[in-house]
Amino acid sequence: MKNRGKRVFNFGAGPAMLPVSVLERVTEGLIDFRGLGAGVIEISHRSKPFMDLMDSVQHRFRALTQLPDDYEVLLMPGGARMQFAALAMNFARLKPQAKAKYVVSGSFSQHAATEASKYLHVETISGDPSFKSLPEVREEQIDPACSYVHLTSNNTVYGTTFSTFPATRGVPLVVDATSEILSRPMDFSRFGMIYAGLQKNLGPSGMAVVVVKKDLLGHALAETPSLLDYQRQAADGSLTNTINTFAVFVLDLMLEWLQGEGGVAAVYERNQQKAKLLYDYLDASTFYQPYCDPSCRSLMNVTFHLSDESATELFLAKAEQAGLYALKGYRSVGGIRASIYNPMPLEGVKALVAFMDDFAKNRATGAGVP
Ligand SMILES: *Cc1c(COP(=O)(O)O)cnc(C)c1O
Repeated sequence: MKNRGKRVFNFGAGPAMLPVSVLERVTEGLIDFRGLGAGVIEISHRSKPFMDLMDSVQHRFRALTQLPDDYEVLLMPGGARMQFAALAMNFARLKPQAKAKYVVSGSFSQHAATEASKYLHVETISGDPSFKSLPEVREEQIDPACSYVHLTSNNTVYGTTFSTFPATRGVPLVVDATSEILSRPMDFSRFGMIYAGLQKNLGPSGMAVVVVKKDLLGHALAETPSLLDYQRQAADGSLTNTINTFAVFVLDLMLEWLQGEGGVAAVYERNQQKAKLLYDYLDASTFYQPYCDPSCRSLMNVTFHLSDESATELFLAKAEQAGLYALKGYRSVGGIRASIYNPMPLEGVKALVAFMDDFAKNRATGAGVP
């Protein structure tokens, strides 16, 4: 292989870094998939080799999540935000009143509520407007006449996570887990549906994995596009149209990688270690201020500010020179966001902490400051 240039530690929130070992196999498969003499994106999505790949994704995903048999795993076009509409169209009619409860805990959950309100009546539960902490969800707040309750489990922009899920009085719980899927063990039987765009923990953008309980299928609004109808996609094995074959290929390699790392529990252990290293450093520092309440900090997206905000641009520039890439916080939050998904190695977080410490010391002494 030609010189592939230097690899940085990439802290981008998504599309996010993938392991080099996976990327190398992607490259090989684009040229020659399993000895066919043709690349994986050049063969029919209904050919035997590709159907084997679809089966492999199903098996690996079910094994990694210990998924109960009464759930479908669908691969759907359009990324996570397409599901904001799709889930409302599929579930609005689960109950006659066609209403749903949305927990608003950050920017994606707000977008989800707004999109759903095109198709049904949306009620919200919200809390802290700065989204540094999570709204409290009490069971009494859930009207059993709701078709579903929607919640974003990890808030990518602000850096908060629901470590436990609320009781919902038998109303199906629908969870957007885009920025944390397969990063920690979860009891999937708690969910009516859980979905995730692939581009944070699982592969390329533009596709979502949708895990849906079978007994919720079959109620889609008549005007639901076939491609967004969960029952139709389940019946068609996610091949209602030509699936994004590239995304399926990368997803399978990512699931294989995760299995090789020891599965979700093993990766969760490492994710806790990575996040602890960073949060412990932030808590001990006066130079840096963590953004979120310690009770709900995300293991995936660590957000913080410099106490002297005027040094943020310099911090980002120097970080990039040091091979620490894409640390700029989201525009509504500012400051720094370090996204440390499954593929981020512990060494990457160690390098970040060492850089932060150097930067803080240099500012204090005036050394290395232009
Ligand atoms: C990134 C993200 C999305 C958006 O995903 P798209 O695939 O771009 O639609 C939605 N929800 C959450 C929680 C995210 O982190």
